[in-house]
Formats: sequence, C-alpha cells, structure tokens
Amino acid sequence: MHNSAIFGSIHYMKGQAGPVYVMVGADAIAVIDVGFPSDAKTIIAYVRDVLGRDINDIKMIVLTHSHFDHVNGVDYLTERTGARVAAHESARKYLTGEQALPVTSLSSYMSFLVFLIRNRFPRPSLTDICLMPRAGIPGFKKGIETRVETWLKDGEGVPGLPGWEVVHTPGHTDDGICLYNFKERALFSGDTIINDKGVLRLNRLLVWNEAALKNSFRKLRQLPVDSLFPGWGKPVKKKDVLKDVM
Ligand SMILES: [Zn+2]
Repeated sequence: MHNSAIFGSIHYMKGQAGPVYVMVGADAIAVIDVGFPSDAKTIIAYVRDVLGRDINDIKMIVLTHSHFDHVNGVDYLTERTGARVAAHESARKYLTGEQALPVTSLSSYMSFLVFLIRNRFPRPSLTDICLMPRAGIPGFKKGIETRVETWLKDGEGVPGLPGWEVVHTPGHTDDGICLYNFKERALFSGDTIINDKGVLRLNRLLVWNEAALKNSFRKLRQLPVDSLFPGWGKPVKKKDVLKDVM
C-alpha cells in the first residue's frame, strides 16, 4: 500500500491528517487514534485486504488525546467492528461532550494554520467534512458517539496491549498520553512530539500549556526510546531518538 511501512508488529499508514497506526497481534488488532472517517475506512481495508484478517479482530482503539484530527473516525470504526475504546481519564469531559476543548491563543492558531498549509494537511474527503461530528474542535462542546469503556491512568497498562504502559503527558492538551513499551524501546508520542518533515519537535501547535509540555518532555526523556511513532509525520527508528527532539 502507498505510504505505508511496517515496524515489527506496528503498521504505519499515512492518514488524512496524522498517521494511522495498527498494532497487529496473533489474536487481536489494536488501533492508535482514528483521525477521520476515511482513515477508519483505510484501516478496515488494510486489515481485511492487506492483512487478510477479520475486521472484528480489531478489538481496541486507544486515543492519545481528544483533538478532532485524532478522534473523528472513532464512531465509524466502532460501528463496524465493535472495538472497545480507551482514553486517558482526563479526556472524559471532552469525549462525552461535557466540556469543549479550551480555545488556545490566536498565535497558536496561526502557527497551526501555517503548519497545515506547509504540510498540505489535512486532506479530508468530502465525506470526512460532512460526517465530521465536530468532536474535539476547540470551543465546540461535542463528544464522540461511542462510549469509551476504559479510562486510562498514568503508569498503568492498557487492556489488550501487553507490554505497553500509559504515560500521561499534559501540555499539547491536558488529556494527552503517550504509550511506552520498555522491552521494545518504543513510544507512541501522540501530539506531544511530532515529526515535522524530518524535524522532531515538541508540538506547540494549538498548545494548551507550554510549561506542562516541557515538564512532560522531561518525564519522557527518562525513557530509553529507539522507535518513535509520532502523532504527525512518519515514524523514526534511531538509537535514543528523543535526543533529537527540539
Ligand atoms: Zn492535537
């Protein structure tokens, strides 16, 4: 498939905005973030046609944070697979529609816009735009339809993902998490760290709290990481890759 790559059990595909990650196990498949409905379609087609697996093998979806470009395809995917959804406990207020994600500063919005134009992102289809339920758009109080069954906590494991641990990394948003695997020295960084055309950066686009972001990165820097799966851009395999983060 175009724009895809395999890193052990982790399969990467380019999504409409951020990447699509599928973690393939013998009995179950997990998905990390589902950007838009068309990303959910890509995942289904990949699992069924490329992997030759039953789409009901997709048992778990983990959301790294509540921004629209990470959660808007969740309802589409759960309706077709019955996968369970997990997110950090502090995402509850956003994913249930109880609160809107905070509106960040004008300069933060402007940098986000420049980033989108420079990266030619996002490229959502017309269906994405029509179906976009507005969940996760700062300022709009609208959650996903799917009921999240597992609320994750810092330092704990993720049901169905043996070896992976939750690292709560507030900063980009207050509900951001990374997933870390000590044995594999691998990290899903969500939007805490992005790969901006080959440059690894702390994500200050639409940032919620810069000081918290730096604190979270100090926490991540304690972890040995040789494989980074960022929330934007391509994965990077490199010894002690977090040393390269600006
Ligand atoms: Zn984000």
